[in-house]
Amino acid sequence: MTLLIKNGTIVTATDQYKGDVFVDGEKVTTIGTSLTMSADRTIDASGKYLFPGGIDVHTHLDMPFGGTTSADDFESGTIAAAHGGTTTVVDFAIQYHGQTLHHAWETWMKKAEGKAAIDYGFHMIVTELTDQVEQEMDALVRQGVTSFKLFMAYPGVFMLDDASIFRALLRTGKNGGTICMHAENGGVIDVLVKKALAEGKTAPKYHALTRPARAEAEATHRAIAMAEIADVPIYIVHLSAAEALEMVTEARDRGLPAFAETCPQYLFLSYDNYEEPGFEGAKYVMSPPLRPKETQDRLWRGLAYNDLQAISTDHCPFCMKEQKTMGEGDFSKIPNGAPGIETRMSLVYDGGVRTGRISLNRFVELTSTSPAKIFGLFPRKGTIAPGSDADIVIFDPEKKLRLSARTLHMNVDYNPYEGREVTGVTDTVMSRGRVIIDGGSFTGRAGAGSFLRRNIRT
Ligand SMILES: [Zn+2]
Repeated sequence: MTLLIKNGTIVTATDQYKGDVFVDGEKVTTIGTSLTMSADRTIDASGKYLFPGGIDVHTHLDMPFGGTTSADDFESGTIAAAHGGTTTVVDFAIQYHGQTLHHAWETWMKKAEGKAAIDYGFHMIVTELTDQVEQEMDALVRQGVTSFKLFMAYPGVFMLDDASIFRALLRTGKNGGTICMHAENGGVIDVLVKKALAEGKTAPKYHALTRPARAEAEATHRAIAMAEIADVPIYIVHLSAAEALEMVTEARDRGLPAFAETCPQYLFLSYDNYEEPGFEGAKYVMSPPLRPKETQDRLWRGLAYNDLQAISTDHCPFCMKEQKTMGEGDFSKIPNGAPGIETRMSLVYDGGVRTGRISLNRFVELTSTSPAKIFGLFPRKGTIAPGSDADIVIFDPEKKLRLSARTLHMNVDYNPYEGREVTGVTDTVMSRGRVIIDGGSFTGRAGAGSFLRRNIRT
């Protein structure tokens, strides 16, 4: 199968030019002007951008949490991702107490197999670190699971103590893996949560009020300090607070390999959403929580000046009906998470590029190239170049879309951006040369996505 995409504007992290792209099988083979080779299909991309497929390195599909399971599985979640211009996800496999990492990996591979419509990889969440688990980390790195997520929050469930965190960091110094950190001080937060509940403070907004920005900043600082002592890089996931960003900026200014991502919800939503009437605030219960509106400008600055290197979604949807309502009368029982896998590219284009906060090249870098580089997928993914996978998004920069749970494809009964209009919408998407979104309609196949063995950091 060959494909010729003509007359589009090709945008990478560094370039922007008019050109034609020829795809043979799964790969881009030729880029040029006025290409004339015959192809099985020719697509006219006049007036549109060609972006490398979006890479979302933080998703939670089919994930058990707090007595329920995130509402998108690998089928509905990856189809929604494709609609939004994302062609690769890196999800999280979870080691539960008493389990091996291998067991966790196999469990999540089964969840994705036959279902994922786009390519996928896994980070491994380590919740218990024994000598045997350390050896398993090495084995997983060799099998292409080259990053590990650790938690400084959720004591008794996911949280690791500092000694274990430090050992894991040291181990990645040897095996070439990368540690991703959920940085919030879980001990402090747990005390604040219990105190609030004892005082009868049960509404959704107390989720945010018991997770102060300083608890995120403290953990971010501690994580970076431990990585500095271990002499390894570190990647902070879903950074939300300006105070935490200061810690990353300070470390980077000293030349440390500290990296961090933020998410659209922290750029477009704020603490004010928790004050919505009734139980509506539950829609935005996620960890870390939404921050004061002034934080948004600080995060955009961080993105523009490379103190933040990636925008991922932390997509972890729970329906209001029967799921979020588990926490009516006790905010600590509201499942943490919100949908976002489908809306990332349009939101960031509309709110970032069109407003002049970031350049078009930086948009591509933050949503595709930089995550590909950090997580061992580049140059197979993350750019449009001869030899790279033909994961290409044809993006219409003028088309408008009103975001609504009714028309989006995520399997969840609300949308945090309900009614918001964005300009800049995915039109057509290729995943390894197959057209999987065609003029806005899904034409791919569940199960067509492949597991990605990722490289170690270089
Ligand atoms: Zn997450």
